[in-house]
Amino acid sequence: MRLLADLHTHTIASGHAYSTVTELAFAARAGGLELIAVTDHGPAVPQGAHPWYFWNAKVIPSVLDGVRILNGCEANPSLTEENGIDLPDELLRLLDFVAVGFHPLTGFDDRDRAKNTDALLRVIENPLVDQITHPGNEHEFPLDMEAVVGAAVHRNVILELNDHSFAPTSARANGVSRERDFAEAAYAAGAPIAIGSDAHYALHVGRFDAALAVAEEIGIERERIVNRDAAAVLAHLTAKRERPRLDLGGEWSWPAAPGVAARAGEEG
Ligand SMILES: [Zn+2]
Ligand SMILES: [Zn+2]
Repeated sequence: MRLLADLHTHTIASGHAYSTVTELAFAARAGGLELIAVTDHGPAVPQGAHPWYFWNAKVIPSVLDGVRILNGCEANPSLTEENGIDLPDELLRLLDFVAVGFHPLTGFDDRDRAKNTDALLRVIENPLVDQITHPGNEHEFPLDMEAVVGAAVHRNVILELNDHSFAPTSARANGVSRERDFAEAAYAAGAPIAIGSDAHYALHVGRFDAALAVAEEIGIERERIVNRDAAAVLAHLTAKRERPRLDLGGEWSWPAAPGVAARAGEEG
């Protein structure tokens, strides 16, 4: 199975990732991807991006060297913000893709399953939210799986099967079986599913081998995976709500080096 879109990637703006948007786009193109969502961490994560970063993402071309770029975020559930998310609704509305997930040092931990579940259910109820990232992180942020999957089905919110969670170096590696359980439950219940790389470096964009193997083991068909290609992603997102930016914005291609262009001119 091959997937042509990656809905979970990070740039240097996340504070602990090491590539730029442009580098992610080049890597995506080299890997044959049609679309990526740039989903930098929200401000609650230490060194996460400031709200202004997301607000000004409109300067990024919507097609970069042939790859569709969705300006997104990976925001955090919040106990203090009015909308229960660490970015305000006015800002989320401007983004092409809104992902939310639990991360360390943001006010949640492994001690209170009910508290985590309540906070996440509130997030899922928000019509601006498109995807919940790595929901199976049982070791750090336990959740009531049945309640979360049920809400995701009801609100047409994507539950992610996160490739990085299966890396032995991941902080989430302890919860791997639960990540699989979530995917299985999401599949059985009919929730939208996406497989994300969670790339924190350009070379990892579009790499989902471990998560793909799990999906195949469960028997999830390609047609059930939202990020199978750009058309499927855009159809899912536009069916959910209007996306002011999706069909706006310029296209940009890396210009040929001046010498190359000059030689081509001489020949032709
Ligand atoms: Zn991160
Ligand atoms: Zn994350």
